Amino acid sequence: MTKKIKRLAITGGTHGNELTGVYLINKFKNDPNLVKREGFETIIMHNNLKAIKKCTRYIDKDLNRTFTIEGLNDPNRSSYEDVLAKVINAKLGPKGAKDRNCDFIVDLHSTTSNMGLSIVIDNDSKLTWQVAAYLKEMEPRVNIFRWLGDTEDASFVNSISEDGFAIEVGAIPQGVLRADLFFDTEKLLHYMLDYFEKLNNEKFKKIYTSIEIYDHIELLDYPRDKNGDITAMVHPNLQDNDYTKLSNGDPLFITLDGEVIKYDRSEELYALFINEAAYYEKGFAMCLAEKKVIPI
Ligand SMILES: [Zn+2]
Repeated sequence: MTKKIKRLAITGGTHGNELTGVYLINKFKNDPNLVKREGFETIIMHNNLKAIKKCTRYIDKDLNRTFTIEGLNDPNRSSYEDVLAKVINAKLGPKGAKDRNCDFIVDLHSTTSNMGLSIVIDNDSKLTWQVAAYLKEMEPRVNIFRWLGDTEDASFVNSISEDGFAIEVGAIPQGVLRADLFFDTEKLLHYMLDYFEKLNNEKFKKIYTSIEIYDHIELLDYPRDKNGDITAMVHPNLQDNDYTKLSNGDPLFITLDGEVIKYDRSEELYALFINEAAYYEKGFAMCLAEKKVIPI
């Protein structure tokens, strides 16, 4: 049987310029009954109030890369987000402990890439994958991306709890609210809350055994010159076409002079998070992923 939960957290505004999560949390704070279900408690919170106020991704560093065990336990890390991560970890975690204050965290994000309704998972906990499979069944437009990350240890907000994931919706420019994706995200949250309620009341007994995912293979940077300046842009064929299959010879980038740079490998992979604004500084033009069905 899948485990029951006692306390779930829905968090938003981890990145202060991703307004879907910020305003969904506002909505739920105004009417907590919307996220109330029988049998467990739902916590709702904004994660980075200072960044939300400034409508910026972060103040000192990316909060959603700050929840490594090493970072949380390092008293010398004192940037705004390092301290904030410790506060959030104390409230919802602590990460790695046997008893944590929260059983499941869903963290709300938006992306400038045309990722539609995506769920990003960075753990292999059973319950997480069961919920994801349920959401995909309820809303077939959902795509699941298994993220292996750009940090040594899991560093997302949701990694504080054993189970959880991030919801990424797009394309939405930074600092912009989009009604369609706002309501789509809310719908996913209601499905999720209903799932937990049914699960806790033993009214839902289905166990999913497999799921189609996009599995992280690598992060691909823009072509750059020796000074680190970008020399080519995402090719127009690829722009806004996230979850596109890449075959050998497909255009990837186009230089400022108009020269096409092609995908040059035999394996067919899928391009995700294409041209995400926040990833320029991280050095990623897109994620490459393998589409597969995995047992869960
Ligand atoms: Zn984000």
